Parts: sequence; structure tokens; C-alpha cells
Amino acid sequence: MASAEHVHLHRGDLPAGLFASGSVAIDTETMGLSLARDRLCLVQLSAGDGIAHLVKFERGEIRAPNLRALLANPSVLKIFHFGRFDLAMLQRSLGVETRPVFCTKIASRLCRTYSDRHGLKELTKDLLGIEISKQQQLSDWGAAELTREQQIYAADDVLYLHELKARLEAMLEREGRQALARACFDFLPARAALDLAGWGEEDIFAHS
Ligand code: MN
Repeated sequence: MASAEHVHLHRGDLPAGLFASGSVAIDTETMGLSLARDRLCLVQLSAGDGIAHLVKFERGEIRAPNLRALLANPSVLKIFHFGRFDLAMLQRSLGVETRPVFCTKIASRLCRTYSDRHGLKELTKDLLGIEISKQQQLSDWGAAELTREQQIYAADDVLYLHELKARLEAMLEREGRQALARACFDFLPARAALDLAGWGEEDIFAHS
């Protein structure tokens, strides 16, 4: 679990110069799960070094030029768990298409076909032996001040994604599914755009 000294809280944007290269793990917290109704409250980021940066947003217009530049930077890989939702929320809230991306949930579905447990909590437990709490998941992320428990929970959602990615990439390679995974990750921004445009439930690949 994250400890408080490894969590840095920022308001409105990232400081300039962070995450200039390599890969960054990203998660978002919102008021709820509706892309039409619920606003973005928090974006969590980590370079995989045990340190989490949290960017808190108040209601209203979000500018965040540093964060937007990072999301669109083609030379920084963005790692998500169930990126489909985060990409749509970031697209709607910041007006930016996030790529390139890696999604640990898609990777898990493509290589861990022996399991139907692909949630972040299950994945972190099964692959890394680490227990993360989901207790604060349904808390008020729009609050003016986030509690210490909320900040640590939010940090935990990004601190292990690099390690999970490494484990999953090895499994994808072993099973010959890297190319298929890459194609799915490349499609993810379009999948998020379909969600925002009204094709959230419909499977456009289905025959009927
Ligand atoms: Mn989260």
C-alpha cells in the first residue's frame, strides 16, 4: 500500500516537466460511472517508481496544459487498467485523445484465459501477491479536501501497473498474442470515442 510521503497532490494540473519520457501509469476518479453525467475529479499518475502524483480538479472548465500535453505525447506510453473508461473521460473532460496506450485489463483477458478474474484487485493479488483495498472506490471524489485514505487508495490504483504490464507482456509473448494485444490497444481511443458518441452498449461487430 502507498504511504503518505510517496503521494504528491497537485491542483488543476501537473507541474511542468514530469513524465517527459518512458511510460506512465494513469487512472481517474470521477463522481460516478456515467460518461454523460459525471465529472472528472482526480487523475493519478506514476512513473513506476513507487511515487504517485494526484491532480485534483474542481467543477468547471479544466485547462491543465501540462497534463494534456502528456496524454497526447506520442513518445510516452500511457498504462491503464480498463482504459476504455479513462480514455473516454479524459477525451470528454480535457478534449484530448490519449495515445499510445497499454491496458492491463485487455492484456489480462487476452492471456489469462484460465481466469475470469480481471479486476485490478484480483490481478494485483494473483500476479504480484499484493493486496490493494477497494474500500474508498465509492467515496466522494468531488470533496474540496480528499482524506488521507482516499489519497492512498487513489495512489494504489497506479503504483502497480508497470509491474503488472511486465508480467502480462511476458504472458502475451509466451502465448503469441502480443500483436493482437497491440491492435486492441491501438483501437482503444476509437472504442472510447464510440462510447462518447452513443455506441456504448451496441456491439458494432455483431451480426445482429
Ligand atoms: Mn481508481
